[in-house]
Amino acid sequence: MTNYTKTTICLIFLFALTFNGQAQIDYNKWFTGNTMRLDYFHSGDASQEHFALDRALNDGLWSGSQTQLIDHLRYGLYFYEISDPKTGSVIYSRGFASIFGEWQSTPEAETEWGTFHESLRFPWPKAEIKLTLFKRDGKNIFQPVWTRDIDPNAIYSNPSVYNNGLKTWAYMNNGPSSQKVDIVVLGDGYSSSQMEKYRRDVKRLTEELFNTEPFKSRRNDFNVWVVETPSASDGVNKPHPAEFNRTPLSMSYGAFDSERYLLGFDNRAIRDAASAVPYEFMFIIVNERTYGGGGIYNLYATCAADNKFADYVFVHEFGHHFAALADEYYTSAVSYEAPDISIEPWEANITALKDPNNLKWKNLTASTTPIPTPWDKEAFDNFSYQIQTERKQIRADKKPERVMEELFERERTHEKEMISKMKYTGKVGAFEGAGYQPKGLYRAETDCIMFTRNRQVFCRVCQHTIEEVINQYTK
Ligand SMILES: [Zn+2]
Repeated sequence: MTNYTKTTICLIFLFALTFNGQAQIDYNKWFTGNTMRLDYFHSGDASQEHFALDRALNDGLWSGSQTQLIDHLRYGLYFYEISDPKTGSVIYSRGFASIFGEWQSTPEAETEWGTFHESLRFPWPKAEIKLTLFKRDGKNIFQPVWTRDIDPNAIYSNPSVYNNGLKTWAYMNNGPSSQKVDIVVLGDGYSSSQMEKYRRDVKRLTEELFNTEPFKSRRNDFNVWVVETPSASDGVNKPHPAEFNRTPLSMSYGAFDSERYLLGFDNRAIRDAASAVPYEFMFIIVNERTYGGGGIYNLYATCAADNKFADYVFVHEFGHHFAALADEYYTSAVSYEAPDISIEPWEANITALKDPNNLKWKNLTASTTPIPTPWDKEAFDNFSYQIQTERKQIRADKKPERVMEELFERERTHEKEMISKMKYTGKVGAFEGAGYQPKGLYRAETDCIMFTRNRQVFCRVCQHTIEEVINQYTK
């Protein structure tokens, strides 16, 4: 390549950066220093969805970047843009996923309507703006599904700050929120007498995250804020074993009828609690031993604190929430139906490998690694499916959690040994079996925390994706 060509490419790149608006948007022209939380209802069934505005609230000081207002990563099933209604120029955008988006692919949505309360957060606009919400179509291209003018002075807008009276403290404060990734940690199912335990759980799990790369190296780019929301009693709702409970954040196992799927559907209560501190990402720690968790991109991640595998669950679910990483596993049952694998998935860490010469993460792959990359899939599958059968039986027999933890321990020991002996372990390639699909979808390494509970390590593609998100909030 000549110098001339290099210069031309650099200039084109610079122009593109300016053209997509990143360098051009004057934060102070468009926005105040506060956060607008736009609440709405997202309703529909398997074949249709509708949106209705609830209200616009002041969610406290804006903690996101004031320079990186456009989301160039474009992850998530949904995406929203805030634009100037006069010129159409986009002044803020973000990708996200939602509980509705997951629910829509469950069998229930075939016969019933569902409605979910959701929030979009962006800097408080100085004048009327236009909101456009997009969803990916069958080819994964974003198409507009809702547009609405939003007036910060309308009757549905409330600029008053909500004082929820909750106790808050900083676990990690590394600098101004506008230059850091801000995480809020909430707890559910902790009674007043358990708040010391909550603080210990926050410390233990947060340290697990920051002992895992790339969070470990980028620790100084994060602030972690903790909110205390004591419950009347200990534990949260567990409908499958009929252990019912109501807690301030509505956390419950059994979401979409999956016994280990731990979500809270009371978005207003969760958001009101979180608003006590500046945040872009949210983690909800649940005072339970029963294995469970959940993670939704740009909404929140959850984890049962006392399970023997809580360290793994915490980091795995944060991967979903923070960087929209796909599950790389495929042998355990999930609540939703399989995606159409004739289309390339939008998630950064799985691929349908339609063009092996142009692998999605080619820049991280050595030219000597064959694509697709061979691995001992049959032996792994035989063992893993056997474990899944035993797992179902343990739940059906209502055995104590200790029995499940022993099964997972046995699984981990055997899988670790199997994977460590495989020829291409440690190499980045394209290994078949990912995203709930034993065939047709590929992951980047033999092992990753998005694939197994074996090691507290993200594969290099997941690490790279996480770094890109960190950069979008800090650079
Ligand atoms: Zn991975």
